[in-house]
Amino acid sequence: MSADLYFDRIDFQKYIDPTDCIQCGYPSCGEFIDAVRKGISKIQECSFIGRNKAHAFEAIKKIGELWPEVPLLLHPRPGFTGLVELNEPNAGSLVLISGNNEYTEQVLMMVLGTTVCPFFVVFSDTGGNTVDMSMIYHTLTAEKVHDALKEAGMEEKVSAKEMIIPGLAYSVKGDIEKLTGWQVRVGPVCAAELPLFLSEIWIPPQTE
Ligand code: SF4
Repeated sequence: MSADLYFDRIDFQKYIDPTDCIQCGYPSCGEFIDAVRKGISKIQECSFIGRNKAHAFEAIKKIGELWPEVPLLLHPRPGFTGLVELNEPNAGSLVLISGNNEYTEQVLMMVLGTTVCPFFVVFSDTGGNTVDMSMIYHTLTAEKVHDALKEAGMEEKVSAKEMIIPGLAYSVKGDIEKLTGWQVRVGPVCAAELPLFLSEIWIPPQTE
C-alpha cells in the first residue's frame, strides 16, 4: 500500500479566476482544468493565466511525473533535523517548516527543485513522523517549531518573522504564533501545490 500524498486533491481551479468565459473552448473553467489534468489541453490556453502561474502549473505537471511511490508508513522514519538553505537565501527569503520524516523530506526537496527561488527550510523534530502522523501523535507542536527555529538561528537570518507551515498543521498555527511571535501562513496540504501557492515567486530553473 502507498501513502496518500494528497496529489489528487490539489484544487487547480482555485488558482484560476473562475469567469467561465469559454474563450478556451470549454464551457467552464472546471472542464478546462480536467482537460489539462488529462493532458488534452495546455494551461497556456487560458488567456487569463499569467506567465508565472503558467510556470507553476508546468512545475506541478513535472512533479506529477516524478512523484514517488511512497510506502504507507506504519513506523516513523526519522530523516534530517535542522536547517536546509536552498538557492542562497538572504534576509528576505521565505521560511518553510516541515517535519523530519524521510519521505516528507524527499518529496519536499523534489518540489523545491522545480524553482530557483531561495528558501530556508526548517525540518522540525517530529520523531520521524509525517505531518499527518505528527498531528495525530502531537509531535509537530509549537514547542518543537520554536526549538527548531532557535537551533537554526532563524531570528538572525531573516528580517520578516514569517513562516509557512504545512496545510495539515493548520490546527497549531495559533499556538506557534503565540509562542514564537512569528506570523504563520498555512500552506497547502499537498507539497506539490506549493508552486501555485507561491506562483508569484516560483521562478523555474531554466527560462522557457
Ligand atoms: S479561458 Fe480560462 S477563465 Fe475562461 S473558461 Fe477557460 S479556463 Fe475559465
